[in-house]
Amino acid sequence: MSELRTFVADLLERRGAVVEWLEPDRLEVLAPAALQRQLGWPEFAHLNFRTQRSEGTIAIGLESDWLERFGALVADQGRWSERELRPSAPLAPPSDPERVLDRAIELPNAAWRLQGISATWARCLMLAFRFTAISDEKREGLVAVGFNLATGAIVNDILARLRPALAQPEWHVPSPATKRAAGAGWSEATLASRLHPLLDREVRESVEPFLRAIRHRLERDRNRIHAYHDELRCASLKHLETLALAEGERAQADRRRETFRVEAIEREYRVKLDDLRRNYALRVTVEWVQALDLYVPVHRFDVLIRRRKGERLIQLDWHPLVKAAESPLCEAGLGRDRVRLVCDDRLHLTDPCGQAPCVSCGKSFCRACHTACPRCQRAR
Ligand SMILES: [Zn+2]
Ligand SMILES: [Zn+2]
Repeated sequence: MSELRTFVADLLERRGAVVEWLEPDRLEVLAPAALQRQLGWPEFAHLNFRTQRSEGTIAIGLESDWLERFGALVADQGRWSERELRPSAPLAPPSDPERVLDRAIELPNAAWRLQGISATWARCLMLAFRFTAISDEKREGLVAVGFNLATGAIVNDILARLRPALAQPEWHVPSPATKRAAGAGWSEATLASRLHPLLDREVRESVEPFLRAIRHRLERDRNRIHAYHDELRCASLKHLETLALAEGERAQADRRRETFRVEAIEREYRVKLDDLRRNYALRVTVEWVQALDLYVPVHRFDVLIRRRKGERLIQLDWHPLVKAAESPLCEAGLGRDRVRLVCDDRLHLTDPCGQAPCVSCGKSFCRACHTACPRCQRAR
């Protein structure tokens, strides 16, 4: 609860309140008129962050609706920010850059050669999204994705490892020199085309355990409903069988009634299955929460890629703050690991599946060069 208390105290002070910390888990607040109106508080309020309520205090907890009210106070502030992580002293390059590259890149159909290293700044865009998955239950969560806008690499892992550095309180606004060194950002279209598949994958992976649990409950209910209706239907069919040879009006009426019964059971079974389908249907929404333009010092490797007669220079950053190299850029496919295939025509670096054979005619082609198969024109 102490983090919540720190957050609330900080927020209220920024809104002009005078806050006094009372141990172990209270705050005494002198709120200005605007804040009193927004939160529905008296001028003097006594906030209590304990799990049990106490007389004369306002109980604040994660499960109460206070988070929403505080959220309304924050509104859109802090949704977009920029920050420079400024080390106190210059950070040394890796001692064995060839080895670093050897671990960062794997090119089964091309060769690479390190051309040079330079110390510079990278602009990494870190985006956070909230997803809400609703079925018979509800799950919410956050996913964060990051790109190095200079090299094009996906840097989710690097940014995750930078979190301790981000927790440092001193906040440096990026200097003009840093911004110039880091270069321009991406167009909206480029960002959208890179972001959507990545975000889709991240959200799917986050929702997967929830989805498994839903499937499990669905199967359990379906089996239960099937067993119940199957038993009723079997009993009716057996009864019909015994009536089959009987003669007379009475027997005929019984047969008719039992046939109706079987139809009614089957109808009810279908209705129950439809109910299940509706009950367990999953709807996922994803909403952008926050963006951080993070400027970090890097050692940039210029790497020459050679494939047959072609050559191409790419860049890959080594992040001294976490002593780690990025994965190489990936121009088609998500590029989850370090393996890249290089295409013949323009030496694109792609995921192995970015050079896979066409599903229709079997011709292999580069997904970064072509949006459709060059032989049969089937869209990929
Ligand atoms: Zn084809
Ligand atoms: Zn290509």
